[in-house]
Amino acid sequence: MTPHHPTAGPGTVAPIQVRAGAATHAGRRRPNNEDAFLAQGSLYLVADGMGGHAAGEIASATVIEAFAALANQPSVTLDELRAGLALAIGRVLALPEGAGAGAGTTLSGVALATLDGNAYWLLLNLGDSRTYRMAGGVLKQISVDHSVVQELVETGDLTPAQAALHRERNVITRAIGAGSTGEPDYWFLPAAPGDRILICSDGLTGELDDDQIRLILATETAPQAAATRLVHEALLHGGRDNVTTVIVDALSTIDATGDETMPSGATDTEGLIADFDDTIPRDELPGPVAPGSVAPVLVPRALVSRALVPRSEAS
Ligand code: MG
Repeated sequence: MTPHHPTAGPGTVAPIQVRAGAATHAGRRRPNNEDAFLAQGSLYLVADGMGGHAAGEIASATVIEAFAALANQPSVTLDELRAGLALAIGRVLALPEGAGAGAGTTLSGVALATLDGNAYWLLLNLGDSRTYRMAGGVLKQISVDHSVVQELVETGDLTPAQAALHRERNVITRAIGAGSTGEPDYWFLPAAPGDRILICSDGLTGELDDDQIRLILATETAPQAAATRLVHEALLHGGRDNVTTVIVDALSTIDATGDETMPSGATDTEGLIADFDDTIPRDELPGPVAPGSVAPVLVPRALVSRALVPRSEAS
């Protein structure tokens, strides 16, 4: 990837210079891979389809295809991401009988974005695929699962360890399609050189815990090697579901001065400064705030009726 020159001006260059890798596998128990992903340009997404037969596969692929054109832009705005999601939802709902009707999919990931000239990860999540960030050797899940067990964890009725073994751990509460009208969560996260974003389907997190994932991310420096290794480890630990990983490394970022920030002498400019959802574990993330701090962009999460979306994969 060719480094950009800041003199090219805003809007024409990527706010974050990245290197990415991706891997996917059907796993050891399932005949089909219903996961899909996008890892190019300004968009890095994982979709985990559900619906039985080929339907889930069609739903996840349909969503990824709907976003593909947006990935060609150097950066993506919140409005553009929302428009992309609306397009994707419309296409899933329009799937014909026998070719995906009634199917659904999760969607999680990041777009490369700017706010007031600074570089941000713009995160999107619907369902229980996950987006993590590793920075300074610390791995944190940024997305909040839309799942029955996550809700029970938030109310204190389950510990995270109990949730991982709960019989309803595969039941999600929001999705694209599958009868859900749930709204996505969006977050702007300041980007810094050295950030590593991991996006994955639950086929990874069902087999490996966060400590195991962190160790692999810390060991495998090349993003493609890390993505492949994570999938291999998930298979070695059972491979009970389709497994997909997308890894995005920030090599450098732009800031409001038009300069490029390189990894050397990395500053502590990371930290979540704008969350829109009380459930995000902001306190666990490195503290605020980016230089020339920007006002939080408020994206209220609509109250949605909880549509239970049973996964066909519970076993
Ligand atoms: Mg899955």
